[in-house]
Amino acid sequence: MAVAHNPLKQKIEFVKGVGEAKAQLLKAELGVSTIEDMINIFPFRYDDRSVFSLLKDVRGGDSVQLKGTLVSLKKVKGKGRSRLTGMFKDPSGIIELTWFQGAKWIADTLKVNHEYILYGKINAYRGKRSIPHPEMELASKAEKQAAFLPVYASTDALTRRGLGMRARRNIVQHIFNILRPSHFIEVLPPKIMAMLKLCNAYEAYKWIHFPQNDTERSHASNRLKFEELFFLQLRILQVKKTRELKFKGLVFEKVGNFFNRFFKEKLEFELTGAQKRVIKEIRADMGSERQMNRLLQGDVGSGKTIVALMSMLIALDNGYQACLLAPTEILAQQHFTSITESLKGLGIHIAFLSGSVKGKVRRELFRFLKDGHIDILIGTHAILEDPVQFKKLGLAVTDEQHRFGVAQRAKLWTKNKDRPPHILVMTATPIPRTLAMTTYGDLEVSVIDELPPGRKPINTVHKTERDRMRIIKFMKEEIAIGHQVYIVYPLIEESATLDLENLQQGYEELLNYFPLQEYQIAVVNGRMKAADKDMEMQRFVSGKAQIMVATTVIEVGVNVPNASIMIIENAARFGLSQLHQLRGRVGRGAEQSYCILMTKPQLTHYAKERIKTMCRTNNGFEIAEVDMKLRGPGDLEGTQQSGVLDLKIANIASDVKIMQTARHFAIELLAEDPLLEAPELYNTKMYLERLKTKHQSWGRIS
Ligand code: ADP
Ligand code: MG
Repeated sequence: MAVAHNPLKQKIEFVKGVGEAKAQLLKAELGVSTIEDMINIFPFRYDDRSVFSLLKDVRGGDSVQLKGTLVSLKKVKGKGRSRLTGMFKDPSGIIELTWFQGAKWIADTLKVNHEYILYGKINAYRGKRSIPHPEMELASKAEKQAAFLPVYASTDALTRRGLGMRARRNIVQHIFNILRPSHFIEVLPPKIMAMLKLCNAYEAYKWIHFPQNDTERSHASNRLKFEELFFLQLRILQVKKTRELKFKGLVFEKVGNFFNRFFKEKLEFELTGAQKRVIKEIRADMGSERQMNRLLQGDVGSGKTIVALMSMLIALDNGYQACLLAPTEILAQQHFTSITESLKGLGIHIAFLSGSVKGKVRRELFRFLKDGHIDILIGTHAILEDPVQFKKLGLAVTDEQHRFGVAQRAKLWTKNKDRPPHILVMTATPIPRTLAMTTYGDLEVSVIDELPPGRKPINTVHKTERDRMRIIKFMKEEIAIGHQVYIVYPLIEESATLDLENLQQGYEELLNYFPLQEYQIAVVNGRMKAADKDMEMQRFVSGKAQIMVATTVIEVGVNVPNASIMIIENAARFGLSQLHQLRGRVGRGAEQSYCILMTKPQLTHYAKERIKTMCRTNNGFEIAEVDMKLRGPGDLEGTQQSGVLDLKIANIASDVKIMQTARHFAIELLAEDPLLEAPELYNTKMYLERLKTKHQSWGRIS
């Protein structure tokens, strides 16, 4: 229970050693105003007290902990301010210490010929080593304290103005001299704590700052991470629940003629088991009263388009329109062409919209859309713009959604008047499990985990310039048996001209081996006009051009089953998920396909890891996990650790297990008691409310 005058709520300036000036500094630099704020800044690592460096081993730049004797101390008069120097001796050597500020005060606190433990950073200047501003503690005193010393993130201003590491530690230490277990409100449900054998809040906070040993440290960090992720999950799940309650979905009761005729007359292949299962899931969703918000994950080439198409037909069967959004003009065009082709003869009106559709055509399209004449609209994000109004939009599909922000997803909701349309989000970029549980935690997830039959794994190899002639020969062989080849150049962000130069140069070299009298080469780059791009694309899709030279504009979605070789130039410049996407452009038919990763002979460690991973596996999920490890969670597409999720201690890359546990318990708890009304959940509920007001922007995630 909360205690009257709970010290946790007290202002930080009343803590011993703080005072008004330092309190202001803490507020400005760290956002700390109360004791509670202060102990919620966790150390990011610890210095191990039991391990000391030896002076003979240390070098300039090292941060060290030394044990030895202060053998002398003297003030040196300089211009203006005086400085303090001392000599420090350990069993292996001797080093000079210097203090430029606070010389008098420091001189008074230090005792010559006593044993000290010293922390500091070695400075080496012209071969002479010294330690500026070391932190010193009498060895006799230090040994009584914890074995691990917390190290907190700091700022320049803090260090300069008397709140260095030691001062920070002292403040936290003083705080824990006052705090008692009864001051902490336990926010975790008692049942869950017992089941998971979690330490209590007091222990967790005390041990995270001053653990005596590894066990205490890991108990504390486990509990705090669990707490953080558990409340994160409660929030996500509640957002989802609220949305389900607030918004009723359109009810598509039947599967009618469009769907059935397509299935019987048009479908050219047997659906895979996974495709059938996912279509069933979608049907069930759209048939219930709930609005569907479903994420469809399936590796490149797994056949998501057909799932989207058949889902759209269900909407049509129920008297509604549907739309499909793609991230690029080329991809949208391709969807438009192939879907128009697949639906031929069924009497369905399909239209295309992008920024390049203008004037009269555009106005007419808007009119036909509004009066319901158009059944399916396929296009780019132009579909999201305000003038685009449907008569009755029943289903919106977005393909490769990582290019569509959350806000845009929300925009789709407004495109139907009475009830929001069902939403299907498709992606081949595998979303690591942790992200699926957080950023996308409010979406239902369907997975296509099976490729159409007969696909052969793509053979991926790593080559350098030395192999060029052999590669050309191989290309010629493949082209001779009717296959096609992609050659992709990286986009160079700093320089648009450089992209073009690379591409142009590559193209011209290629002409030496593939003369225009015998071969056709299509060229696509990001800066071409849409119409030209489309023409070039079309030359390749139709098979007229045997080779396609492109920048990464072909990255997502493009489907030319006859292409059997993907050559990626300068492959070290690409990220893993991009490489995987690009590779996915081949291997879409039954023939053996190849992906050739071209790099310079010398590679950085990370580039090497990426290339190795690509050569080792075709599995997108495995690749996504490696990607996350290499890049760290801070860099995950779309989700900054600090931005949306704002995590203090848990790490979405390394704490997958805890995240799963937290989600599991959050789901169970809400199933049992959705509003957390049980008396023993009072603190949990109050804390959750507090978090919600703190993170109001959160509602926008849905
Ligand atoms: P992605 O999931 O990458 O979007 P697509 O939907 O473009 O994949 O499908 C890739 C290729 O596989 C297309 O040529 C498509 O016609 C084909 N395909 C899809 N499903 C099947 C299936 N069940 N059997 C055979 N081929 C299929
Ligand atoms: Mg696709």
